[in-house]
Amino acid sequence: MKLGFEEAQTAYTSGSQSARALTEQWVRTWAYCPNCGASKINPFPNNSPVADFHSTVCKEEYELKSQKNQFSNKVLDGAFKTKCERLAADNNPNLFLMNYDLRRLSVTNLFVVPKHFFVREIIEERKPLAATARRAGWVGSNILLHQIPQSGKIYIVRNGQVAPKDSVLTQWSRTLFLRDQGQDARGWLVDVMKCIEDLGRTEFRTEDVYAFEDRLSRLYPSNRNVKPKIRQQLQYLRDRGYLDFVSRGYYRLRSTS
Ligand SMILES: [Zn+2]
Repeated sequence: MKLGFEEAQTAYTSGSQSARALTEQWVRTWAYCPNCGASKINPFPNNSPVADFHSTVCKEEYELKSQKNQFSNKVLDGAFKTKCERLAADNNPNLFLMNYDLRRLSVTNLFVVPKHFFVREIIEERKPLAATARRAGWVGSNILLHQIPQSGKIYIVRNGQVAPKDSVLTQWSRTLFLRDQGQDARGWLVDVMKCIEDLGRTEFRTEDVYAFEDRLSRLYPSNRNVKPKIRQQLQYLRDRGYLDFVSRGYYRLRSTS
């Protein structure tokens, strides 16, 4: 994988159009499918409404968002209503997020958020556009990147370093079990995974996760049984190999390395 863009003959302007062309060209040339490992992913015809690329081998679909600066906690996304419909229909694509260096014309960071991490809780509804806007009343959405656990942000390139492909594929497969769950159940699992991560250690007790009862109650105001729900998620994550059971009430995050 080479990180440079191959556009020596194209006059480069700072317009987002040409940056888009450069990054798409790069993905076509160098990106592989993190789901099946196929060495190429292919573009959809222009203006495909759902995704930008797909793997012809495993049919996974990918959307690409790229920008010069690192992504902050929130990533602008499309219409809120469409986003929710896609989540409900389960046809939301995986998301590639890329940062590039315009002076060196190369990729700095590329990570992928597998689609099974897109749960309702990480999509934020934006304020409707003002009455003076061309699309007055239109409601967009944000992806709350900071609410996605690290296991849902798989780096292919980080700070200009290419990650080993087998490690990327392992990380991808590690959370595929989430796809066996419906939207609501997946939301709970992803949120508890994030709580575990926020503990900041690999070994912990069930009680440690109970400390997030308030946070989870705010996310799920209608649920009155948050502690049993937490316990249930931990057991499920253990059954699917995301956690190891150490001893009664003790868990350990399974290492990916
Ligand atoms: Zn594939």
